[in-house]
Amino acid sequence: MSIVYLNGTYLPIEKATVSVMDRGFLLGDGVYEVIPVFAGRLFRYEEHIVRLKNSLSLIRLDFDTDTLTHIFTEMIEKNGGGDQSLYVQITRGCDPNSVRKHVFPPASQPTLFISSSSLRFKNKAELAEGAKAITLPDTRWQLCNIKAITLLANVLATQTAQDAGAIDAILVRDGFALEGSTSNLFMVKKGVLITPPISEHILGGITRSFVLELAHQNNIPVQERNIHETELATADELWFTSSTKDIVPILTLNEKTMSGGKPGPLWEQMIDLYLVYRQQLSTT
Ligand code: PMP
Repeated sequence: MSIVYLNGTYLPIEKATVSVMDRGFLLGDGVYEVIPVFAGRLFRYEEHIVRLKNSLSLIRLDFDTDTLTHIFTEMIEKNGGGDQSLYVQITRGCDPNSVRKHVFPPASQPTLFISSSSLRFKNKAELAEGAKAITLPDTRWQLCNIKAITLLANVLATQTAQDAGAIDAILVRDGFALEGSTSNLFMVKKGVLITPPISEHILGGITRSFVLELAHQNNIPVQERNIHETELATADELWFTSSTKDIVPILTLNEKTMSGGKPGPLWEQMIDLYLVYRQQLSTT
């Protein structure tokens, strides 16, 4: 049975309910984080908290994240330790007068919800099977750096990708391929690892920054620059990265086979570095 945390209480997920007046429910007025846990330990905890603080500050929601550390520890334990993924959602709560208005209520209490889902991390052979992707126009808003719960454009893009048998869609805005609808995008060209720079048009992925860190440590040439949509078809390698997908090679793009239908050499190098690091985390 999955135990969740809701506004001060740990309880079975079936028993957790929030008010219909919650602004998360009515207006999508909130932010979230997804933090992987390996062998009972939070992966890149500080970075996730920094991103959460940034999201909270950008939506002008006052919330003390210091209280979270203790709750996360409890949640991991109550959900059996091991490998799991924590979902954290903070909304602006309810208007004390039970009215639905766009403008911030004078004194609302934020709603804090945390859940855990079991996660079975893929091994190298499974990841090497790769994935299909399609390109789609980016219909999202202008503040994609906020990890907002308002995800309708991402939902529609991901569903369209899945309907096409793809794992995710590469979103294209003004001719540039930015990221997936649930992941970041990497391209390899002539031995150089390329990814779009941090901007308001992408979410700064924790896996993205980890991959860049590993590349720098291992003298892999990196460019953080815009990727024109037309470059995708001739890329040597394309990858999606995210906390739940890890690093997935894209082997089919818009029904065209990429990198000869198998993961490229830079993916091979990067996934080894990535998995070794994760293994060390589980055993130290
Ligand atoms: N971009 C978007 C739009 C995402 O939804 C995600 C996953 N939350 C990512 C990138 C990857 O972020 P992370 O590596 O932190 O999971």
